[in-house]
Amino acid sequence: MKKIRQPIIAVLGHVDHGKTTMLDRIRNTRVAEKEAGGITQHIGATEVPIEVIKKLAGPLLSLWKGEIKLPGLLFIDTPGHEAFTSLRARGGSLADLAILVVDINEGFQPQTIESIEILRKYRTPFVVAANKIDRIKGWKVVENEPFLVNIKRQDQRAVQELETKLWELIGKFYEFGFQANRFDRVQDFRRELAIVPISAKYGIGLPELLVLIAGLAQKYLEEKLKIEVEGPARGTILEVREEVGFGTTIDVIIYDGTLRKDDIIVVGGRDKAIVTKIRALLKPKPLDEIRDPRYRFDQVDEVSAAAGIKIAAPNLEEALAGSPVIAVRSEEEIEKAKKEILEQIKSVIISTDKVGVIVKADTIGSLEALSKELQEKNIPIRKADVGNISKTDVMEALSVKEEEPLYGVVIGFNVKVNEDAEEIAKAKNIPIFVGNVIYKIIEDYEAWVKAEKE
Ligand code: GDP
Ligand code: MG
Repeated sequence: MKKIRQPIIAVLGHVDHGKTTMLDRIRNTRVAEKEAGGITQHIGATEVPIEVIKKLAGPLLSLWKGEIKLPGLLFIDTPGHEAFTSLRARGGSLADLAILVVDINEGFQPQTIESIEILRKYRTPFVVAANKIDRIKGWKVVENEPFLVNIKRQDQRAVQELETKLWELIGKFYEFGFQANRFDRVQDFRRELAIVPISAKYGIGLPELLVLIAGLAQKYLEEKLKIEVEGPARGTILEVREEVGFGTTIDVIIYDGTLRKDDIIVVGGRDKAIVTKIRALLKPKPLDEIRDPRYRFDQVDEVSAAAGIKIAAPNLEEALAGSPVIAVRSEEEIEKAKKEILEQIKSVIISTDKVGVIVKADTIGSLEALSKELQEKNIPIRKADVGNISKTDVMEALSVKEEEPLYGVVIGFNVKVNEDAEEIAKAKNIPIFVGNVIYKIIEDYEAWVKAEKE
């Protein structure tokens, strides 16, 4: 049986521009009428059912002609471009859509630019939330109002200032090759980027933001979102973690099919595919039902896409964040899944004795993103792996340095440098470039190369 699943939505943007505040506000959305149903907490994600959006939106729904048949929206709880690069699936992004949050008073910042580059690379459609409009001088705040209602309360000056700031933003997007416009002035959503002015803090404009996303998904992604719901599940690992009473578990976003408690799953490990049998499928308990923090989960028998779920199973210690999870129901499928997963891992985790840089990242997805950038700049890679920067990495760079000093470096994205690695790097003069903005890390490395050559 085919059904349309919830689109998976990711939130990106510069630090402090309001990503977390916006997600919190969406999570806390309450709709007065009981029958509208509530927001459901998943593992690593939050689901907003379509009834809630319809109730919030009221007449705004007329933005979209035609009915919205989606069951709702699934927001990934971890915002930021680092998280986004980890969310890889089917060679692209796990996220079907994204919200780029930009502080309207600050405009483009380094992580805004990084987010745009990443969204472009993954071809992920997105909308822009121009946040913190309440900070505009003289702005009159009414909590939770749609933007189009709230704007009517503002005096001429505040409206003018908003327009000026929007124009600046639109100009910036133009520089980056996007035609953008305020959402209610967009003629063609396929060609123009929609900007919704919001205040995450006060909930202004969030109704429009939600309606817009739902409408875009319905109109342009319906085919992609149609899944064979009874089929075996596919997902991506968000996180690998210890859980009291369950051992090592994986938090997974399921984007296809149904995962059943008695399924076998195949997941990616560092140098192998792990085949294991599910012990338990865990969902977070509603907050008000948690009496003992040790029992934070409810066990379920099955879960259908799209959903976030915690899987407890043996042998997950070496599972890799960002790698695929494939459920299988026959021997033959096991072999196929193993092959597919191994191919994916081998395309990302590199281990050669070439003269080249050492690359580390926090997940297989972010490692792939960083390696691709380096390759595009013709910077050779000797080793690319998931994990913090270790002494071994520095030693490896040291051996490269003997052959080609400019490649004797370690480059890391969203990882820590172990203490002993730091010490030996200092002693042996091996530069380490780390950070959480890919293009900045590469710029730093290139600046260093330039300085060394002079
Ligand atoms: P993140 O780093 O993008 O997740 O940003 P946060 O959500 O943590 O927000 C950073 C700061 O901006 C916090 O102090 C928030 O309270 C504040 N903030 C976020 N949204 C708004 C808004 O709409 N209006 C105002 N005035 N402040 C906001
Ligand atoms: Mg945050």
